Amino acid sequence: MSSTSATPTATETVLAVEGLRKIYNEGTDHANMAIDDVSFQVSKGEFLCIVGPSGAGKTTLLRCIAGLAPASAGRVTFEGKPLSNVPEQLGLVFQDYGRSLYPWLTNGGNVALPLAARGVPRAQRAARVAESLQSVGLGHVEKTYPWELSGGMQQRVAIARALSYRPELLLMDEPFASVDAQTRFDLEDLILQVRRDLGITVVLVTHDIDEAIYLSDRIVVLSKNPSVVREVVDVPLGDKRSQVETRSSDAFLGLRNHLLSLVMPKDE
Ligand code: ADP
Repeated sequence: MSSTSATPTATETVLAVEGLRKIYNEGTDHANMAIDDVSFQVSKGEFLCIVGPSGAGKTTLLRCIAGLAPASAGRVTFEGKPLSNVPEQLGLVFQDYGRSLYPWLTNGGNVALPLAARGVPRAQRAARVAESLQSVGLGHVEKTYPWELSGGMQQRVAIARALSYRPELLLMDEPFASVDAQTRFDLEDLILQVRRDLGITVVLVTHDIDEAIYLSDRIVVLSKNPSVVREVVDVPLGDKRSQVETRSSDAFLGLRNHLLSLVMPKDE
């Protein structure tokens, strides 16, 4: 069937990882190849999770994507341009929110922090802070301090801070690993909502296969290290997801079995 539309229906690639290799302590006698050869692409607006066994190189991969660690070979391009240092359009959220927020600053002050550095005019900063905190359901905590909040709320503030400069791509490394199960479900739903509301692209590393399935459009499965891509798995569960129904659906359980067989192969 041919299309007469001039508008391409193909999705736009925002992030491309091509032949990435990472060797720590390269050239020394304790060189460690964390990543052998990893390639994948992420489309605009996509939610992509990276899973793999512990020590597979998931965090290393995210650090290379973020420009926080140099690749030994291959390249990462963001909107078609080679990535050399942390690009302005990137938001980062890591697991250790406790240490990532400054206790002497209010929650609003923490969220405001990256705005000056990224050149957002002073007159716009207060509105951005309020808007970002509201987007994570915390409009009321601007004047209080991180230590007055629960762990889950602190992580929401960390997410608000990453959203305050309106990044196009959000990189998250095990962002919900340090909270209790109920809070984790809440934060998963929050990030799906944020992604829908802001049309943002998300790349998230997790060791939790169920979490990856629940959140993703696609999942990149890494082998044990030195890692290669074992498979890129499509997650056709639709846009509307619910913790109870989605997780108990046959499609979800089928994906879980498949992913488990990839992450924990019988022959290894
Ligand atoms: P994952 O996130 O999948 O658990 P990591 O990316 O943390 O895996 O680690 C992958 C491999 O790289 C491991 O063998 C780890 O020991 C090694 N590694 C990670 N960070 C460093 C570092 N800064 N220096 C040397 N080796 C490292």
